[in-house]
Amino acid sequence: MIKVTIWNENTGQDHPDVVKVNPGGIHKTLAAFLEKEEDFEVRTATLEDEECGLTDDVIADTDVLIWWGHCSHHAVPDAVADRVAKAVNKGMGFIALHSSHLAKPFTRLMGTTCTLKWRDGDSERLWTIAPYHPIAEGVPECIELESEEMYGERFDIPQPDELIFLGWFGGGEVFRSGCVWNRGYGRVFYFQPGHETNRSYSEPGIQKIIINAVRYTDPKIRREIIDSPHVKSR
Ligand code: ZN
Repeated sequence: MIKVTIWNENTGQDHPDVVKVNPGGIHKTLAAFLEKEEDFEVRTATLEDEECGLTDDVIADTDVLIWWGHCSHHAVPDAVADRVAKAVNKGMGFIALHSSHLAKPFTRLMGTTCTLKWRDGDSERLWTIAPYHPIAEGVPECIELESEEMYGERFDIPQPDELIFLGWFGGGEVFRSGCVWNRGYGRVFYFQPGHETNRSYSEPGIQKIIINAVRYTDPKIRREIIDSPHVKSR
């Protein structure tokens, strides 16, 4: 079994447009289709839970952590962000969705600002540019999203180890919408669709990409990080 933890900051649930699309919160929207995979064991955690629901025990029992955050990145304690980033270096898979480009664990793993250009309310064509990649398996060459938030370049990320999807928006902007990086023993996938008032997570092609990404980032090995003998304490 692949143990999947879906983390959502779960703010904005007082906004009717968000509730209409995600009645139980975005974590429930994501869990609804991920739970259908027989080899996935899914749990959810939110900002409201103690230690964000990401205690040492939960992290130790997680193969792949999916993250959705937006307005409350700052509210995630540094200790929790450090714990997540460390677990990725030891092998845990990490999938950052949409506005999680500024989530603390993600920016820690990237080492850059991860800023981008954005505009609410556009259409998107998501192009599969690496059809041979496991995350693109069974995914159409192009997925048309009627309504999605425009994210545009420059996206201040380190050069991805693999670039799988490119987004093209109605306004003409382009974006590196699906990227993979290796960090330590772990794999990180960033995926752009998923604005809280849009229905991208109901699209079968988008669901397929996230399911594939879970299998791809599932740890192949896990290792302790070896402390340098030249450093007394860290
Ligand atoms: Zn958004």
